[in-house]
Amino acid sequence: MNTPIYLDYNATTPLDPRVFETMKPYFIEKFGNAASRNHSLGCEAAQAVELARQQVAKLIEADPREIFFTSGATEAVNLALKGIAESPYYAHNGRHIVTVCTEHKAVLDTCEWLERKGWSITYLPVNADGLIDLQQLKAAITQQTVLVAVMHANNETGVIQPIEKIGRLCKQHGALLFSDTTQSAGKERIDVEAFDIDLLAMSAHKMYGPKGVGVLYVRRRKPRVRCEAIIHGGGHERGLRSGTLNVPGIVGMGAAVELCRLNMSNEQKRIRRLRDKLQRQLYSHIHGITINGSTMQRLANTLNVSIEGMDSEVLMRDITSVAVSSSSACTSATLQPSYVLGAMGRSDEQMAGSIRFSLGRFTTDEEVALATDIFATAVSTLR
Ligand SMILES: *Cc1c(COP(=O)(O)O)cnc(C)c1O
Repeated sequence: MNTPIYLDYNATTPLDPRVFETMKPYFIEKFGNAASRNHSLGCEAAQAVELARQQVAKLIEADPREIFFTSGATEAVNLALKGIAESPYYAHNGRHIVTVCTEHKAVLDTCEWLERKGWSITYLPVNADGLIDLQQLKAAITQQTVLVAVMHANNETGVIQPIEKIGRLCKQHGALLFSDTTQSAGKERIDVEAFDIDLLAMSAHKMYGPKGVGVLYVRRRKPRVRCEAIIHGGGHERGLRSGTLNVPGIVGMGAAVELCRLNMSNEQKRIRRLRDKLQRQLYSHIHGITINGSTMQRLANTLNVSIEGMDSEVLMRDITSVAVSSSSACTSATLQPSYVLGAMGRSDEQMAGSIRFSLGRFTTDEEVALATDIFATAVSTLR
C-alpha cells in the first residue's frame, strides 16, 4: 500500500528528521536517568532536559521553572484541572469551573469527572463561527469560580478564541485561566505574560516531536499558581509530576519546539497559502461546500468543510489515498457526529458531510492539487 497524502496534521504530525537526529543519542549512548546526578551519564541527561525546558519556556515567554514535562497534553490537562481542584489553596473560593462545550475531550471528560466529585461546571456555548461570547464568559464568572478553561485553537475547526481578551477578563474577575494550546503551540504566537495565561497544556506530537511527551506550564508569580500533584512517587519535576523522565522524548520536544519557534512566520505563510489554495480549488470543483468555523479567527493549516448531500464516512471509505479526518480523530472511533460542529448549530446533514483537512510542514503544492482531484472525482462519482 502506498502511503497516502497526509492531510491530517491536527491528529498527529510526523517526527521532523532533524528532531529524530537530536533524540537518537539519548536512547543508547546517553541513556542516563536525569535524576541520577551523582555520575556523568545522569548529569548529561539532566542537562539535556534543562535545555529542552528552556526551549519550551522560550516558545511561550515563560520561565523554565514554570515548565513541567508530562506524557502528553491529555495528562497535562488532567494535572491542571485536577491539580487546581485538589489544591487547598483555592478551597475557600468555591467549587466552580467555567469551560466551553467545544473543548477537547481531555478537558470535557475531566470536567465531567470533577462534576461527579461535587464541582459545578458551566459549559459556555459558541456561536456559528465557533467563538465564545466574552459577555457570556464575564457573566458566567462568579465569586465561586476558581478556574476558567478555554482552549486557544480548536482541533476540529482551527477556530482561535480571543485568548488575550479572555485572559484579561479572568484576571479582572479573579479567576485562573487554563488554556489547552495543543493545536496553536508552534503555529501561533503564545505569550503567557501578554495573554495572562496561568496554566497551559501542549503536546510534542502535534508539532513534529515524538508522541508521549507534553508540557504543563504553571505560572510562578503574579499570581503564584498552586497546583497539586496527581502522580506521586519520587518528587520529580519539583514534586508536581513524579516518574523517571522520558529523556529522549523531552529532548525531542525541545528540538521540535525550537524548530517551530525559529520558522513560525515563514511556515505559517507557506501553509496558509497551501490551505487557501486547497479551499479555493475544492470550492471551484465541488458544489455545495460550506466552511465550518470562522475564516478570520482560524489556524493557517486547518480547513473544515461540509459537503452537501455527502456522508463523509462513505466518502472516506472511497478515498484511501488521502488521509483526512471526518471529525475528531479521537472521537471518530465512536462514529458519532461531531459535538463541536453540533455546538456551532450545524445540521445533521452538515455534520454527516464534514471533512477536516489539516496541512503541515511536509505538505506540497502537488499534494494539494492531487487531493483536490481525488476528492472532486469521488464526490461526483458518489453523486
Ligand atoms: C491532540 C490534542 C490533545 C491531546 O494531546 P495528547 O498529547 O495526544 O494527549 C488535547 N487537546 C487538543 C486540542 C488536541 O488537539
